[in-house]
Amino acid sequence: MTLMDLTAVELGQAIRKGEVTPTEAVQQGLDCIRRSQEDNPAYITVTEELALKRAKEWEQQRPEHPLSGVPAGIKDNLCTKGIKTTCASRMLAEFVAPYDATVVERFTAGGGILLGKQNLDEFAMGATGETSWFGTVKNPWDSARTAGGSSSGSAAAVAEGSCWYALASDTGGSIRQPSAFCGVTGMKPTYGSVSRYGLIAHASSLDQIGPIARTAEDCAAVLDLIRGQDPRDSTTVPLSGPPLLEQLTGVVTGLRVGVPAAALESVSEGVRRGILETAEVLRARGAVVEECELPLAKEAVAAYYILSSAQASSNLARYDGVKYGWRDKTAVTEEQLYTRSRSQGFGAEVQRRILMGTFVLSAEHYHAGYEQARKAQAQVRQAWNQCLERYDLLLMPVTGGAAPVLGRSVAEPLALYWEDVFTVGANLTGLPAISIPCTPDAEGLPLGVQLIGRAFADGTVLNAAYAVQQDTPYHRRRPGEGKVK
Ligand code: GLN
Repeated sequence: MTLMDLTAVELGQAIRKGEVTPTEAVQQGLDCIRRSQEDNPAYITVTEELALKRAKEWEQQRPEHPLSGVPAGIKDNLCTKGIKTTCASRMLAEFVAPYDATVVERFTAGGGILLGKQNLDEFAMGATGETSWFGTVKNPWDSARTAGGSSSGSAAAVAEGSCWYALASDTGGSIRQPSAFCGVTGMKPTYGSVSRYGLIAHASSLDQIGPIARTAEDCAAVLDLIRGQDPRDSTTVPLSGPPLLEQLTGVVTGLRVGVPAAALESVSEGVRRGILETAEVLRARGAVVEECELPLAKEAVAAYYILSSAQASSNLARYDGVKYGWRDKTAVTEEQLYTRSRSQGFGAEVQRRILMGTFVLSAEHYHAGYEQARKAQAQVRQAWNQCLERYDLLLMPVTGGAAPVLGRSVAEPLALYWEDVFTVGANLTGLPAISIPCTPDAEGLPLGVQLIGRAFADGTVLNAAYAVQQDTPYHRRRPGEGKVK
């Protein structure tokens, strides 16, 4: 057993007992990064010196938090003062953030140690990690496959063991989907529970920050560290109730869980088995699990891409070659400066979203585009909330199958959009959702299942996931174990 086999909470305990020092943990993380980084760029910036310095400082001043002294990574769309924050884009390749995001401040105040900024799809747009300007992250379980996206680096880093958890963002599935593909646990908390101040915006009404870690318990500990109202993000609200870690009792007796029947028909045999087995585990612990109906899946994807692209096109208008970011040096006229800087600074997927978003917001298409999508979103919300009046939780797939092979999505962007069918609902509704590893597929590739709860019932979601993980071994599997190379 090495430090890599410990969960974040276990490492925190070992540090508090004096069995391990943060410096030792940082060294292990850095060694792992050195071994894998050249072939698999999970990190865009490795903050080696800072990590070692913080580990030493920790010895003088030990913050009282379960994760104090535990090294972690941060997705490179979260602002870190004095450290490059690139969004995996040529546009921001040299951008050094002048301030810390609120979650980064809280992370540091709680004794978190930053190992580096993690790779992603450019501006968090994508589902395979292949749109990054800094190279594609591969799946640690099988290097021919994608790690998922957009939090490709964060999920791969936690799976390979170079950090014990990561702070990432989820606009339409970017925490949960790569977590499922890499065999780790990832949670998108309720919209409004974690401040997005300092998160470089993709689609503001959908973006949410959350953890990627080994277990639901780790996710609870990370969320306890970062969540809560922030005057700098007016969408955050005051939270009540005990810390999430204290809500992990493992008791799910009488909990009502709905499994959307239609979802089971459109997924691989492996994912289906994963859902049915998870249902059995919950049943054995006293939960009531039954099939339910959850309509509007296709409409949700269409609404998601219209709304997110529209908001992205407006959020990304600030990158104009004037204030900051990539600037074309040959431009003579103002128009040339904008056009060339933006054409060179943004990759194909980001440009596609900006074009799509501008189109649906244009005066001619606003009614048929943005307005219709808002209506569809309202219907999805209503249907989901009605369903969640009958059930405490929904149990459903995260993806249709295991991680796809690299290269395919670049040729078929639209096909890739449809694969977000199981994840975008939680963003359109703002509901809390977690992805946990389940039985791997026949080749040994990781698969995940998703639990979704009522708004602000993040504790219920985490506790159910925690209960499942008490009775299953899948979150303990590491790449290299099982059939896959
Ligand atoms: N696949 C989704 C998209 O490309 C997810 C993005 C996200 O959650 N950041 O928009």
